[in-house]
Amino acid sequence: MSTFQELGLNDDLLHAITDLGFIKPSEVQEKAIPILLESETDLVALAQTGTGKTAAFGFPMLEKIDVNSRTTQGLILSPTRELCLQIANEMKQYGKYCKGLNVVAIYGGSSITDQAREVKRGAQIIVATPGRMKDMISRRMVDISKIQYSVLDEADEMLNMGFKEDITDILSHTPEEKNTWLFSATMPREVATIAKKFMNAPQEITVGNKNESTSNVSHEYYLVNARDRYQALKRLSDANPDIFSVVFCRTKRDTQKVAEQLIEDGYSAGALHGDLSQNQRDLVMKSFRNKQIQTLVATDVAARGIDVDDITHVINYQLPDEIETYTHRSGRTGRAGKTGVSMVIVSKSEVRKIKSIERIIKRQFEKKDIPDGSEICEVQLMSLANKIHNTEVNHEIDKHLSSINELFEDTDKDELIKKFFSVEFTRFYNYYQKSKNLNVSDDGGRGRDRDGGRDFGGKSNSTRYFINVGSKDSFDWMKLKDFLKEQLQLGRDDVFKVEVKDSFSFFNTENELKDKVLAFFTDFKHEGRFVNVEVSENRGGGRRNDRNRGRRRDDRKGGGRRDERRSDSRNRGDRRRSEGSSKPRHSDSGNSSTFKPRRSRR
Ligand code: AMP
Repeated sequence: MSTFQELGLNDDLLHAITDLGFIKPSEVQEKAIPILLESETDLVALAQTGTGKTAAFGFPMLEKIDVNSRTTQGLILSPTRELCLQIANEMKQYGKYCKGLNVVAIYGGSSITDQAREVKRGAQIIVATPGRMKDMISRRMVDISKIQYSVLDEADEMLNMGFKEDITDILSHTPEEKNTWLFSATMPREVATIAKKFMNAPQEITVGNKNESTSNVSHEYYLVNARDRYQALKRLSDANPDIFSVVFCRTKRDTQKVAEQLIEDGYSAGALHGDLSQNQRDLVMKSFRNKQIQTLVATDVAARGIDVDDITHVINYQLPDEIETYTHRSGRTGRAGKTGVSMVIVSKSEVRKIKSIERIIKRQFEKKDIPDGSEICEVQLMSLANKIHNTEVNHEIDKHLSSINELFEDTDKDELIKKFFSVEFTRFYNYYQKSKNLNVSDDGGRGRDRDGGRDFGGKSNSTRYFINVGSKDSFDWMKLKDFLKEQLQLGRDDVFKVEVKDSFSFFNTENELKDKVLAFFTDFKHEGRFVNVEVSENRGGGRRNDRNRGRRRDDRKGGGRRDERRSDSRNRGDRRRSEGSSKPRHSDSGNSSTFKPRRSRR
């Protein structure tokens, strides 16, 4: 693995890279930058969004252009206004120490004369959407006759959106001898044709395989009856309290309907589709970026160019018509080195499409069960407990403390905690205690009805555990499963139903292994801190071991010493993370709950 210095970038760029906090080049940067710096060549790069491709073409372009000249030397074409602005911003940041650099973004929906004025001041680099670029060329507002470097970014998307004619027209106004760098997530025939037509013996690099999904994203599917789709969506959101997601629907109508329904049910959601005005779309995107919206419901077209790095989950409310589109959807998560989950809610008639997608993305889906009510309640409760534990005390409360103390004079600590949590929990519990099992077995029937059709109750041969490590400790379900198998020296299938949440997780083993698991984790340290494993209340996909209900509480009491010790290093980290990331959903909505279901509506 090289460093940015070893890739041959100049000091101005290295300085900016340090400011940006990039430690090492990403794969596409490592592959593309030396080629583009060392030779005057055309390039075809197959890379997903979120892999750092803007810098892969941006650094070489910035290094090669002459900032002392006012002539336009670099042209970057991108499919959407969103992406265009994002690229222009990134280029400005990368080039912030390149004195005299002027990067101008031109795109539809904004004043064309203002943009023309900016170009006239001398833009060495123009980042443009094809439609507006063509318009400005025909009105002689830009001169791209001396371009040396042109980039076709997200070429597959541009062609999907019908920009082929525009691109052809734009490129006909550029010099023959320029270099063209084409970046695309997938390589459909149309892209290959463009590459052939406009490029001269391009070098090729591939990050991952063609059409392949990034390895940072895990793929899951959930089989439900079509009429339960919406309930399934809610449960998947509720089972992941820190979710920051894009939900994809097939039509504008469904997108609007699902978003409205989520809002009505108390979720912080927003719709993004083509029937909204540009202004409305900008507002929604702004709220999503600021994390005021936790769930963005979008159509494929409107979601093009969503460049938000922290998306934790992509939920395919419905599968796309074109299977290839799945790659684009899932590529919205797992960006910038982070991990992500792409979930698909399918009905029986669609399940065969999963196999086709697996072939295209060359990754396997895991079939999972929609979490049951008890599991969701436990996840939410523990998430709330974590949040409270990590909350900075507001000392404005101090002056009211004696009155509050007076009120609770006769309430012991356990009672107080229970009351405090019940404020949120009871409503949530009430909502879910009568919820049905949504899972459909492969033969088309409901999943095992374990408790008269309810998700609560029931017995099984397996034990569900809670463990106090999660994705914040760099675990995903595969890593946690491997970790447990290795530590406990268990066989391949001995650990199952592993569910990794933010700061804690769940897993199952057969009942016979319970004593071994609990004994092993009595005093176990991982990376300097105590790992706590307890029998969980919920069954994981519908299992619960009622005999263990009391035990868990006892364990927690007995684990006080461990809990104190584990709290320090870990929870400081948690606090830092939560400050930066989560704007409480309830802050301005009037919904004072982290728990969403406000109505007992199912
Ligand atoms: P892109 O694929 O260009 O949209 O980049 C996705 C995100 O990764 C952007 O927010 C970049 O700022 C960030 N990024 C690009 N290169 C690196 C790097 N080498 N290290 C860390 N983050 C990066």
